[in-house]
Amino acid sequence: MTDQIEPINSTLLPPSTWLKATPLPWVIAGPCSAETERQVLDTARLVAKSEHVVAYRAGVWKPRTRPDSFEGVGEEGLRWLSQVKAETGLATTTEVANARHVELCLQNGVDILWIGARTTINSFAVQEIAEALKGVDIPVMVKNPVNAHLAPWIGAIERIYDAGTRKIAAIHRGFSVYLESGFRNRPQWQIPIELQRRLPNLPMICDPSHISGKRELVEPVAQMALDIGISGLMIETHLDPSRAWSDAEQQVTPAELMEMLARLHARGKSIGDKDLQKQISQLRGCIEQVDDRILQDLSERMRWVEQIGRIKRENDIPVLQIDRWENLLEDHLRKCRQLGLDESFVKSIFELIHLQAVKQQVSKPSENGED
Ligand code: PEP
Ligand code: MN
Repeated sequence: MTDQIEPINSTLLPPSTWLKATPLPWVIAGPCSAETERQVLDTARLVAKSEHVVAYRAGVWKPRTRPDSFEGVGEEGLRWLSQVKAETGLATTTEVANARHVELCLQNGVDILWIGARTTINSFAVQEIAEALKGVDIPVMVKNPVNAHLAPWIGAIERIYDAGTRKIAAIHRGFSVYLESGFRNRPQWQIPIELQRRLPNLPMICDPSHISGKRELVEPVAQMALDIGISGLMIETHLDPSRAWSDAEQQVTPAELMEMLARLHARGKSIGDKDLQKQISQLRGCIEQVDDRILQDLSERMRWVEQIGRIKRENDIPVLQIDRWENLLEDHLRKCRQLGLDESFVKSIFELIHLQAVKQQVSKPSENGED
C-alpha cells in the first residue's frame, strides 16, 4: 500500500538546506512570548551557547483563549528578533496567523515562520498565508491542528506547498482534550506517525512544551519523541518561567534546557550493520507471523459474528446485548492483566472489534444512510 502524497514528498527540501548542522537532537529554543527586549536578548545569549540550538523562537502575536490575556508585543518584537540574529547568529522564528504577519516578518528578516495549531485548522487563514508566501523563499513549519485529525494538517501543508514553498516541516504539539489527562495536549503519536508514513521526507519536529503543559514532563516527552526517531525539538525557554506572561507552567530556564539536552539521547543511526540487519529482520519475520495469526483469528471471529447475527435477526433479538459485552470486556481485561498487557490498549482494541461486530449484525449502511 502506498498512499504517499506525491509530488510533495519527493520535492520537499531537507532541513539541512535551511538550518545549520548540529549534533542531534536539533533544537528550536526560546520563550513562548517575546515580552521585553532584554528578556528576548538575554534568553537568546544563553540558549545560543548550546551546540544543539539551531533557531530561536519567540511569539510576538499570541493566540490566546481568553480575551484579557497578553496578546503579544507585536511588530516591535520582530526588531528584537533581528537583534538576536545579528548578535548570536541563530536563525529566528515566530508564529504567523495572517498575511499581514507574513509581510511584517519578511520586512524584518525573520528566517523561519510557523503556523500555530489554532490557525492550521482554519483553511481561510492558511490560504491567506499561502498567498502572501507566493514567490518568497522562506521555510514554514506547520503545527498540528488543535483537534485530533490528520486531514487539516495535511491540507495546511498542501496549501503552503502549492504557494511554491519547498522548505516545510511539521510540528507535533499534541491535540486538545476536554477532560483532564496527564497532558495539556494529548500526543496521540499515531497521528504524526501516519503523517510520516504519507510524507516520509517531511521533517518532523516535536514540541514537548505544549504537549506536556508542565515543565516536569517536557524531558520525558522529548525523550519519547527522540526514541521514536523524531530528531528536532521545539522547547519553550524562559529566564524566569513562573513569571512568564504566557505558558508559565511549561517553560524551562536556559540552564534547565542545557541540563536536559545533556541527558537527552537521540538515536541517529540507520540499520547499516549486517548482523544487526539480520537480527532485526528475523524479529520482523516473527512479528509478521503473529500479525498473520491475528488476522486469521479476526476473520474467524467475524464469521461467528455473522452466524450469531443471523440467529438474532431471525428471532427478533436486539443486536446489542450490553450485559454480555460488559462481561466479555471484564473477562478480557482480567486476562490482559495476567498477561502483563496494557489495559487501556486492550480495551481500545476490543471496543473496535465489538463495534465492528455490532455494525456487521445491523442492516448495512447502504440501506440506512451513511455511517
Ligand atoms: C506557541 O508555540 O507558543 C503556541 C501558541 O503554540 P500552539 O499553536 O502549538 O498552541
Ligand atoms: Mn506557548
